[in-house]
Amino acid sequence: MNTLEKVKILGAASKYDICASSASPRNHSSERIGNPCGPGICKSFTPDGRCVTLFKVLYSNSCTHDCKYCMNNNKCSKKVAMFEPQELAQTFMKLYLQNYVEGLFLSSGIVKDSDYTMGLMLDAVRLLREKYLFNGYVHLKVLPGSSLEMVKQAAELSDRLSLNLEVPSKTRMSEISEIKDYKVDIIRRHNYIKRQRLASGATTQFVVGSTDESDFEILEKTNWMYERMNLKRVYFNAFVPVPKTDLQNKQQVSLEREHRLYQVDFMLRKYNISFKTFKKHVLSDNGMLPRGDPKIFLAKELIKEPVSINSAGEDELLKVPGIGPLSAKRIISFRRQKSIKTYSTLQALGVVLKRAKSFINLNGIVQRSLGDYY
Ligand code: SF4
Repeated sequence: MNTLEKVKILGAASKYDICASSASPRNHSSERIGNPCGPGICKSFTPDGRCVTLFKVLYSNSCTHDCKYCMNNNKCSKKVAMFEPQELAQTFMKLYLQNYVEGLFLSSGIVKDSDYTMGLMLDAVRLLREKYLFNGYVHLKVLPGSSLEMVKQAAELSDRLSLNLEVPSKTRMSEISEIKDYKVDIIRRHNYIKRQRLASGATTQFVVGSTDESDFEILEKTNWMYERMNLKRVYFNAFVPVPKTDLQNKQQVSLEREHRLYQVDFMLRKYNISFKTFKKHVLSDNGMLPRGDPKIFLAKELIKEPVSINSAGEDELLKVPGIGPLSAKRIISFRRQKSIKTYSTLQALGVVLKRAKSFINLNGIVQRSLGDYY
């Protein structure tokens, strides 16, 4: 099999791992060049906010494991491909030197065992760093069950490491795999990652709805991972049934559910709002987030009187829909000079008035009562 064929197979096989954004298909035409959904390319953001294009690919799509939703699992019939370390390093450098990509995101199925595959992936990245002197961004996936030594080497060569939880608990894991041990293969390995120094930190991902878990289960584990494992980010990937897998007939999960989880995740990380608060005021009795904007639900529960724009503290301002961390800081900074008198000033400070008006008191002006909002 030639390298181009491998890139096509292994780039396409990496698409269920979220790195950052993904493109939408456009009609194909032979007179035009470029394909926004071509395998192997994706976007990500560096810690300083730059958007970088990554070569996103698997080392191999062969896997000894049996995850029921995954197209690479040991029961799925597929065309198997695998790079050689030198072949992968050389392919990446060609793309890099022609300005197609700026960094590498490398994952893999497990061939023989985790350390064997990690060893090959590390050989490829070591060639990039030592032979080709590549100093750019590398995001490496730690495979479940990898040894501490492999994790250490991965951290020395990479900017970011990630290891997917996929599901929120040991019990849920037993529903999708008879091989993966949640506590040993995944949580213990996250502990190894936590001990390493990484320029861009560590991340994980859930496949939302691959089992019948609730949003409560996912968010509780998300919060635990931020608190205990110092994760930089948690990603949520709405389950999509893949043909020929055991879960091919299971219902696809809505992007709205995925979006609501991201909204709560953002508030956990950026708004100083605790998981306990969401549990008490937003999550329904069945453990699911209600349809709609979680911040509106929270505001309705927590804001009993309209929040005074000219005297409220940052935490209070952050409870108002339409006011985010940046606009709350701008409001407080502006107030040091003079009081805020008009809606247009608030708008200029970044407040989304349509969402905020019903929850604020601006110099005695209250737009509507909170009850009118609904
Ligand atoms: S370990 Fe990873 S690649 Fe292998 S079957 Fe499970 S999800 Fe797929």
